[in-house]
Amino acid sequence: MPELPEVEITARRLAAALAGAEVESALSPGMVALKSVEPPLEAVVGRRIEAVRRVGKMPIVDFSAAEDDGGGSGARGPAAGPLSLLVHLMSAGRLQAFEKRASLRDRRSRILVRLADGRELRLREFGTKQRAWGRLMPRAAVSEEEMVATLGPEAWPAPPLDELARRIDQPRHLHPMLRDQRVIAGIGRSWVDEVLWEARLSPFRQGADLEAKEVERLHGALHVLGDAIDVYEREIGETVPDKLPMPLRVHRREGQECPRCGAKLAAVHFAEHTTTYCPAEQTGGRVLKDRRLSRLLK
Ligand SMILES: [Zn+2]
Repeated sequence: MPELPEVEITARRLAAALAGAEVESALSPGMVALKSVEPPLEAVVGRRIEAVRRVGKMPIVDFSAAEDDGGGSGARGPAAGPLSLLVHLMSAGRLQAFEKRASLRDRRSRILVRLADGRELRLREFGTKQRAWGRLMPRAAVSEEEMVATLGPEAWPAPPLDELARRIDQPRHLHPMLRDQRVIAGIGRSWVDEVLWEARLSPFRQGADLEAKEVERLHGALHVLGDAIDVYEREIGETVPDKLPMPLRVHRREGQECPRCGAKLAAVHFAEHTTTYCPAEQTGGRVLKDRRLSRLLK
C-alpha cells in the first residue's frame, strides 16, 4: 500500500528515468482505470514527459505542451497546453517504468504510456480488484481536481505545529483521522501505526482531547516519513521494486517485542486493516481487544 514515502521515492526514480522521454502511444487496458474522457489519452502522443511528482499519496506525470508543427495529437485549446496524468494507486497499484513493453495479456496493466525509446511507463495493479485509476487533464486543472483540492497539508515535511493542532482538533480517533487525506495528506494504514508509536499516543485517543505537549509529540513524530524516504534513497536503485523494503518497526508486528521498551506489541483487527501499538507506551498498559471495547477507551 503505497503511502507518502513510497510514492515519493517512486516519483523521484521515475522522474530521473523518464524526464525528456517522448511518448509514442498510450492506451488503457484497464476497463475503468482511465477516469477522464477529455482530453483523450491519445493527446499525450508526441509529447515529452517533463516530470513525475507527488501530491499526498498520488503520483502525477507531467507531459509537455503539444508541438506546434501539427505532429502528435494536433490538440487545440486547453488540451494543447501542458497535460498531467493524476494517478490514484489505491491499495494495490504501482506506477513503474519498464525497459520493454507489456504483453497486452498482462492482466495487471491499467494504463500504458509507451515511449519512443522502447520503454514503457505502466500503471499496474496487483490483485483482482480494479480500483487504481488515472485522470488526464490540463496541468493547470490539477490543483482544482477534487482529490487534490480537498487535501490537507502534506504530512512531510511536517506542516507548522499550529496548523497540525488546528487540523486534528476534532472529536475523532487519531488512527482514522490521520489517514483522512483531507486532514493531513500522505499517511495510510502502515505509516499511521509508526507515527502514533513514535509519538507514544493511543490510536484511540481523540484529536480534540490531546494536550499541547501531545500534539507536539505527534508533530515531532512525522519525521518517520522523511526517515523512510532516506532509507529508500539509500537502498533502492534506479528501479523501484514491486515490494518496497519498508522500514516499519511496529506495523503488523503483533506479538513481537516493542523495539523501544520491549513490551509485547498488540493489535486491533478491523475488517480491512490492523492497528498495531505498544500497550506499555501508548495505551497505559491496556490491551484493546476489539472495536467495541476500544470505543470505551479514550
Ligand atoms: Zn513500547
